[in-house]
Amino acid sequence: MNSILIANRGEIACRIIRTCKKMGIRTVAVFSDADRNSPFVEQADIAVYLGESEPVKSYLNQDNIVEISLQQKVDAIHPGFGFLAENAQFAQKCIDAGIIFIGPSPDAIASMGSKSAAKRIMQKAGVPCVPGYQGKVQTIKRLEEEALKVGFPLLLKATAGGGGKGMRIVRKKSELKEAIKSAKSEAKNAFDNDELIIEKYIESGRHIEFQIIGDEHGNLIHLLERECSIQRRYQKIIEESPSPVLTNKLRNEMGDIAVKAGKAINYSNAGTVEFILAENNGKFDYYFLEMNTRLQVEHPVTEEITGLDLVQLQIEVAEGRKLKLKQKDIRGCGYAIECRLYAEDAENDFMPSTGKILKWEIPESEGLRVETDICSGGEVSIYYDPMIAKVITYGTDRAIAHRKMEYALKHLQCVGITTNQDFLVYLMQHKAFQEGDYDTHFIKEKCDYTSERKHTENNLAITSIMATLLDWQERENKRKLLKSLSSGWRNNFYQNQFQNYLFKEKNLSVQYKYNEGGFIFQIEEQNYEVKRLSISNNKISLEVNGVFYQSTIIKELNKYYIYTPELGNYILEAIERFPDNESEKVKGGYIAPMPSQILRILVEVEQEVKEGEPLIVITSMKMENTIYADEAGVVKEIFVTEGENVEAGFQLLLMDS
Ligand code: ADP
Repeated sequence: MNSILIANRGEIACRIIRTCKKMGIRTVAVFSDADRNSPFVEQADIAVYLGESEPVKSYLNQDNIVEISLQQKVDAIHPGFGFLAENAQFAQKCIDAGIIFIGPSPDAIASMGSKSAAKRIMQKAGVPCVPGYQGKVQTIKRLEEEALKVGFPLLLKATAGGGGKGMRIVRKKSELKEAIKSAKSEAKNAFDNDELIIEKYIESGRHIEFQIIGDEHGNLIHLLERECSIQRRYQKIIEESPSPVLTNKLRNEMGDIAVKAGKAINYSNAGTVEFILAENNGKFDYYFLEMNTRLQVEHPVTEEITGLDLVQLQIEVAEGRKLKLKQKDIRGCGYAIECRLYAEDAENDFMPSTGKILKWEIPESEGLRVETDICSGGEVSIYYDPMIAKVITYGTDRAIAHRKMEYALKHLQCVGITTNQDFLVYLMQHKAFQEGDYDTHFIKEKCDYTSERKHTENNLAITSIMATLLDWQERENKRKLLKSLSSGWRNNFYQNQFQNYLFKEKNLSVQYKYNEGGFIFQIEEQNYEVKRLSISNNKISLEVNGVFYQSTIIKELNKYYIYTPELGNYILEAIERFPDNESEKVKGGYIAPMPSQILRILVEVEQEVKEGEPLIVITSMKMENTIYADEAGVVKEIFVTEGENVEAGFQLLLMDS
């Protein structure tokens, strides 16, 4: 192989390009409108425009990608993950065009692409599976009946699903019908296939997966496990290896089953066999969940402890080479952890956020690896996954890798957009997580982040002092230029000045005055003495009540983005007067919680609705959200149409109660 086209974008495109460069392979990147200025486009040897930003018009346009591959005379296509990575039809199209698809055979992809078919194959091969329904009859009525047989709580999954999409936990009968409809619609939207499977919902399970790699000569081994139980919305955010709970005996046993699962479908290339592990009276039971027929997001964790380059192995086996590694050669050394940095608000139900990254900086640290395609000025758009970066640390033991991770997370700068950075720090500091005592519900059940995150008065005071002094400095610089300014200004300055800010829903009222080379601030009846102020190039340093802080501060319109390693990220808004939150809200008005596309409108004008009835379904960044009626009433006006894109805060409809 001399030349590879990467049918993907973002950090995984960068990751693949890096290995190709190491191997001396020419890379061809493809990009959409939204990605025109992304770093991966520059990192490839050549990059070709693919189409508009919506995935269907670019990264999912199979024919266009094959066409570009032929024009560029590449030998192979690497699909990365997501998009076309698990699309059997695409793999076949590549082969038909005489291009190597870097991944398993179309048959293997197809058999595992359907969760129902996969479960049937695995059951036959003697792999333990989660009890449930995976039949072909898919009417709502039949699914309801089967669901009742499985019992509550249960999980609805899209058979063609992935990434937690099309998945609904259902706890009671009254929710069942709408959950089935909604899961079907989400599945149809995301995978063009609305088939569902039903599984018993395992209340306390751990997600343990095994990396496997096979060649085209029948050799297949596993590369140990990854523990991926720290999830929100059924999607992983932290992965570590080795798992804190697996004994060597259990590891070998599950590893053997993973290999058996791979061999059952003559698997070649890199793949992952996912299990759910449940404790049962001190002993562990494990069930096959699914097999992902591609490279995983979290593959770096395995690379760190095995010393292998999985992308290189993928390329080598796709070239037809024999795996040189034997199972006995695979030994994990040390400990690795990965945290996924997402553009999302952990204090608001992990709602995705979009916007511009005003500053991006990675700290220098031994054993730290960051996989990303972000740079200062980069945009997080509504079109793709909100993952910004993967932060990976390695240590000789778990505590060392964790300590490095916490430090790296605290010192990473991603300013200008709401991210889960501070939430990841919080998780790293969580005692139960540190002790390895967690399951897949850890975030939901053990982390009350919104109330536990201490936006202490001190933190808010310090950040509002920084915002105030940034403006003060700006005015001061202007004043020096405007020599005609009346001298009375200075006297005035010894009087109290006032500034108001809004942080989330909290109003901050700041008073300050100049005082002997420094400032005295009064915020919420507390006094703060400020000394040693220095501001330049979006950096501010100052001493507040005897403690010295150094922060990044960037102002955009009336918003201040402030990052301080010890305090985390704050976004303050300057306001003229405190708005009356209640009176500003339109009564009966329903607004889009984030930039989104209107998927389905479930009501009509003049329709009477009951409290809790679904009104509108919106989608954003691969996620579906249903807006429900807060109270009973009549729909007065609908301001949107299906398919329309709206900004966050846009009013969707008006109800009269
Ligand atoms: P996807 O293909 O969308 O990633 P998976 O089948 O891999 O879906 O499941 C994703 C996550 O959902 C798992 O890691 C686990 O946390 C949870 N999950 C899946 N199936 C079950 C189940 N039967 N019981 C409890 N949790 C489950």
